[in-house]
Amino acid sequence: MEKSRLPESFGTNVFGDAAMRELLTEEVYFSLKRTVEEGEPLDPAIAPAVANAMKKWAISKGATHFTHWFQPLTDLTAEKHEAFLCPAKEGPILRLTGKDLIVGEPDASSFPSDGMRRTCAARGYTAWDPTSPAFLKEKTLCIPAVFLSYTGETLDKKGPLLRSAAALDRALKRILKLFGTPCRRVVTTVGPEQEYFLIDEEVYLKRRDLLLTGRTLLGAPALRGQELEDHYFGALKSRVLEYMHDLDETLWSYGIYAHSEHNEVAPAQHELAPVFTVTNLASDNNQLMMELMQKVAARHRLVCLLHEKPFAGINGSGKHNNWSLSTDTGENLLDPADDPQSPRFLLLIACILAAVDEHQGILRASVASAGNDRRLGGDEAPPAILSVYLGDQLGAIFDSIVLGREYMPQNPAPGSVGVPESPIFPIDATDRNRTSPFAFTGNKFEFRMPGAKCSVADPNIVLNTIAADAFSRAADALEGEKDFLPACKKYTEELFKKHARIVFNYNGYGPDWAEEAKKRGLLNLRTTADAVPQFFRRESVDVFVRQGVLTEKELIARADIALEKYCKTVRIEALTLADMLRRDVFPTVEGYVRELLETASLKRQISENCADMCEILLAEELSSMNGELLKGAEELEALLARCPTEPAAAETFAKTVLPAMERLRSLADAMERRCPSDRWPFPSYTALLYSVR
Ligand code: ADP
Ligand code: MG
Repeated sequence: MEKSRLPESFGTNVFGDAAMRELLTEEVYFSLKRTVEEGEPLDPAIAPAVANAMKKWAISKGATHFTHWFQPLTDLTAEKHEAFLCPAKEGPILRLTGKDLIVGEPDASSFPSDGMRRTCAARGYTAWDPTSPAFLKEKTLCIPAVFLSYTGETLDKKGPLLRSAAALDRALKRILKLFGTPCRRVVTTVGPEQEYFLIDEEVYLKRRDLLLTGRTLLGAPALRGQELEDHYFGALKSRVLEYMHDLDETLWSYGIYAHSEHNEVAPAQHELAPVFTVTNLASDNNQLMMELMQKVAARHRLVCLLHEKPFAGINGSGKHNNWSLSTDTGENLLDPADDPQSPRFLLLIACILAAVDEHQGILRASVASAGNDRRLGGDEAPPAILSVYLGDQLGAIFDSIVLGREYMPQNPAPGSVGVPESPIFPIDATDRNRTSPFAFTGNKFEFRMPGAKCSVADPNIVLNTIAADAFSRAADALEGEKDFLPACKKYTEELFKKHARIVFNYNGYGPDWAEEAKKRGLLNLRTTADAVPQFFRRESVDVFVRQGVLTEKELIARADIALEKYCKTVRIEALTLADMLRRDVFPTVEGYVRELLETASLKRQISENCADMCEILLAEELSSMNGELLKGAEELEALLARCPTEPAAAETFAKTVLPAMERLRSLADAMERRCPSDRWPFPSYTALLYSVR
């Protein structure tokens, strides 16, 4: 086995602390540090020196280009590479100026903007985000940046995420001051658990649906799915393990602490979780991680699928967003330590409950997408209804407040195997709940609704904003109080009682929950078309504006873009499905029907004894199904031709186009089961899910 080069090889592709210390003067280094760590305004005078150091560092590692690396309102990141090489009087030179570092001007006309940038006016700007370190990807120095329109509206995900973090910092510092525990800075931390599928490249390339849409649009289920429950945490296959090790090494070189990895529930499904960090960085890292997961897979002739539901009938992939609040000294504010009844802890929890209850709609909407709609509510992921799981310990405190039950602190007995050779081990104060969309897991909340492909920024912009708003209101109410602690207790208890309906400590997959949730007045927004319009509500606009995260114009534009993207995604899927059915399935089945009839006819001619009806019966059945299939595919195409992909059409895509696709798919899958396996034009679910050894 090759000797590991860790920890020296960690972060070698990042312009991190060690490189900065080496290449920057002390003055510039500390000035930049104050901006990054304490949120002090950036001193523009240091830009030329930082740019020069970055350039030197990158060139010493073989870089030839630089780019501002940003996150437009698509699922992906964007980059426009520019060469360091420039002509000069004295001959060619390598240059990165302070201005190059601070601002970029990519042509913005082809990014989603929904009218925030007139189509004729193409200018957009990218502005350096010094709080996320630059890194070297292949031969290009990538400088994380915010993307804005000519008129200053954010056109990306990072801008509002940074603003939401600032709002939370402002609000929470006021609360901490009230408790006599002030701090310089509060940040939110995020650890996203990333699920994915890994399949063989050769099989993948034969599936137009996977290539174009990331999911299978047809395919009869494999005879073995996930029912044996033996894939979860199962021993890793050699090819998968080699991929995971290669990926870990790659991620470590980018300063990403890839930490735990294992097989997930569905065949060919896996998970990777990095160690949590400050949200802005966690979001950048996750974006880079998703890109590297796919690039590394290609090196192994594998394909990493990040779609939320690539295969019907087995689990889809999510991205659990573990979220907490931390001070600059590293104290986790959602860790009750030994005192779950501490007034500060309970006030923070009560505010978060209030935020989730009041803004359930936009929290759900923040993770809405055509892909994720297929996952939520399918007995594998939380339902589309938001609720909060508090766990045993906090749940008992909640009951004591809301139901007046006496709170009995529980100290679970230590665990033991029951044989003297095995160790005694501590047991957590709270069991887990895998079915809750928003679960307290002892010292953080786990938001389990986001889909695998979703940008971490989307849900966290909403979470930070609504939490900041609840904290600000608590501060408004309590700042003038002379007798602070009793007032705080009263305020906390009132919040718990007022928002009790959002707490649900039981099985979120259970059939009764949707009924019960309805009685409680909770929203059940099944599709993106139902969910995204929640952003248009007055209360939603107000909370974003009040917290300085998005203007009304920015918010409306984003919601419109999300709806339009939904329509376009479903349209591409529907077109692809119709095309596969018309041009591949239909002719294949026609060929088989002909063969069946020819066989039947031959048999009759040659032997009286062979002339049974089985070929004819099957040919008749398939022929009628094939006719229906062709007609269905043509009708679907005609429907699409009448359907614009504008925000208002989302409803039609959800209620008409998708159900039509489902009907066609069931028909095609039934036909697949009746046709010879070597003749079917697309690799089967068995080949897709079981060919990696
Ligand atoms: P699970 O048992 O929930 O699958 P994992 O170990 O897979 O747990 O993932 C838990 C994630 O939560 C990790 O990414 C971890 O770093 C993250 N996490 C732990 N503490 C915090 C925290 N204080 N803030 C945010 N994320 C956290
Ligand atoms: Mg996990």
